[in-house]
Amino acid sequence: LHNDVVDLRGQIRVAVRVRPMLKTEEEVSSASIIEYPSTNAISFNQGAKPSGTFTFEKVFTPVFSQQSVFANIEDFILSALHGYNVGLIAFGQTGSGKTHTMRGGEAEDEGIIPRTASYLFNESKKLEATGWKFEFSLSFMEIYNNEAFDLLNNHSIVKLRLINHTVSLDGLTEHPLTKQSDMAGLLNVADRNRKTAATKCNEYSSRSHAIYMWKIKAQQRSTGISTSSVLKLVDLAGSERAKESGVVGQQFKEMTNINQSLSVLQKCINMQKAKSTHVPYRDTKLTQVLMDCLGRGNSKTMVVVNINPCNEQAVESKRSIEFAAKMRET
Ligand code: ADP
Ligand code: MG
Repeated sequence: LHNDVVDLRGQIRVAVRVRPMLKTEEEVSSASIIEYPSTNAISFNQGAKPSGTFTFEKVFTPVFSQQSVFANIEDFILSALHGYNVGLIAFGQTGSGKTHTMRGGEAEDEGIIPRTASYLFNESKKLEATGWKFEFSLSFMEIYNNEAFDLLNNHSIVKLRLINHTVSLDGLTEHPLTKQSDMAGLLNVADRNRKTAATKCNEYSSRSHAIYMWKIKAQQRSTGISTSSVLKLVDLAGSERAKESGVVGQQFKEMTNINQSLSVLQKCINMQKAKSTHVPYRDTKLTQVLMDCLGRGNSKTMVVVNINPCNEQAVESKRSIEFAAKMRET
């Protein structure tokens, strides 16, 4: 089971998703600033001089449906059933489509998180026919202002404790998932907890990192041998720079925390890829929580960089693409 994917161990992949322009944006804007010179490449069409072409593992242009995005990443998610610690992280400025990509809407519009539940249940059934047995348990949390909260237990505080090379999440509730249909109920609870928290601060959802975690236990019936792995699906806080958005006071402090956690995340990914021995996972709560799936040991990471195609957002979009390109190059 493990051997067929072993060659991909530790790999970090980068995909880019450019969302379509919204109706309201089409009315006031401006054409899209993004061009697609070839499959899996993008460039900016602004100004006389081309800014260069960037190539990624995958480029999802605006025509990609939620279903086709998922079809392209499902093999990656499947690694979690094969014993890998898997992290899939949506990055991008506020309004770029992170929550749409990860959580999405109803039915056809469902994002990666709800689709993962039906997919993993189907795939685990197939593996069960070959003598394996699976147990899933879920925990949803968010990190706001460098504090962690349980999204499935009244937004109660979660304490992080570092023990050697692992982090323990004290107080975070775990919810067994015995059938696929339980997922909808858990997502509703999490959505409600995020909304309630957001009434205290308008910009809450764009300033918090939401992390949807799976613990997966696989056991081979004949031998009793078991493996466990984690899958972490992450909707990051908006990556926009504080100075671009002109905020002050408490809001500035929040944004500084976000910028710090995102830059440490970037550093961890780049240093990990460069096989550096002192990766600064400990520096923020976000990287502590993601440590076990950030390319260490038996893990795989995919970052989906979300892009807003509007002309007005060119500065942030370029920053995001440069962030993505840097991860690819390292
Ligand atoms: P973020 O979470 O990055 O702040 P959202 O996911 O909330 O951004 O997306 C911003 C807006 O764009 C929302 O109205 C969302 O429904 C819409 N949107 C995002 N991605 C797509 C897409 N691929 N197709 C259609 N609408 C999208
Ligand atoms: Mg969002």
